[in-house]
Amino acid sequence: MNSNLWIEEKFEDFLGLKFKVEKVLFSGQSEFQSVDIVETKGHGKMLLNDGLVMVTERDEFAYHDMISHVPLFAHPSPKNVLVIGGGDGGTAREVLRHSSVDKCTMVEIDSMVVDACREFIPQTAKDLDHEKLTLIIGDGVEFVKSTDEKFDVIIVDSTDPIGPAQPLFGEEFYQDVYKCLSDDGIVVSQGESSWYAMDIQQSLLKVLNTVFPKSYLYSFSNLTYPGGLWSFTFATKKHHPTNDFSAERVEASGLTFDYYNAALHSASFALPNFVKKGLEGL
Ligand code: SAM
Repeated sequence: MNSNLWIEEKFEDFLGLKFKVEKVLFSGQSEFQSVDIVETKGHGKMLLNDGLVMVTERDEFAYHDMISHVPLFAHPSPKNVLVIGGGDGGTAREVLRHSSVDKCTMVEIDSMVVDACREFIPQTAKDLDHEKLTLIIGDGVEFVKSTDEKFDVIIVDSTDPIGPAQPLFGEEFYQDVYKCLSDDGIVVSQGESSWYAMDIQQSLLKVLNTVFPKSYLYSFSNLTYPGGLWSFTFATKKHHPTNDFSAERVEASGLTFDYYNAALHSASFALPNFVKKGLEGL
């Protein structure tokens, strides 16, 4: 083995994030993207799609807690949940911990991501055979266009807006999402970094504000995505993410978390001034 193996995520043409690799576990090229899983020295197993870090065992809990528990505790009784993307299984794993959830449907376009994570990253993929989970290999864009089902919470756990994920950031997709959300439904989406991708955040929030009565950005800190400060968007037909949120429900759920807690739920919607300024008037 090459003991000097490093993997580098290149962000545009000015930033590189390097991780020391102990072993390459899987490398494949699907119809949609390259899929690699490596054992790293400092971050456990890592999934990369098209050379971009998707998940590491060390910090995936921060992303998966915040993409799941914020909408699931903001909604008073989420029963039917849809996850779009999320092929590593971490989001579905967290959704399925909520006892109110009767059914979770996950629509992931790339079976190679799911199969590779099942084999090499059981930490995230461990509940992909859960009895309440319906796993569909298909395009989330087509799914929301054609389904008659209504969901209480939709979670868009997607890659960056390139390739098959590009439409997941557009207005047509969110018109369809609106249609298949229940009357008090919530949609949360992977919302990039305010440090490096505020243009994407601005355009996504503009789209959401066109389709939904109200949308918000909330953030969390992570270790392995460029910028460190990362975000999700929250768009709602009815429930305010913090005013309608009950900290008692978090307590009563009996669930424990490594990142999420009731105070952080509300605090995550408080944005630094440079972000507030960048998002003003959208
Ligand atoms: N946590 C990750 C991040 O933001 O870096 C996202 C993780 S998850 C692996 C993203 C998944 O979205 C990928 O597996 C990709 O195949 C899937 N995806 C991209 N476009 C999609 C689409 N149109 N429909 C369904 N899944 C899609």
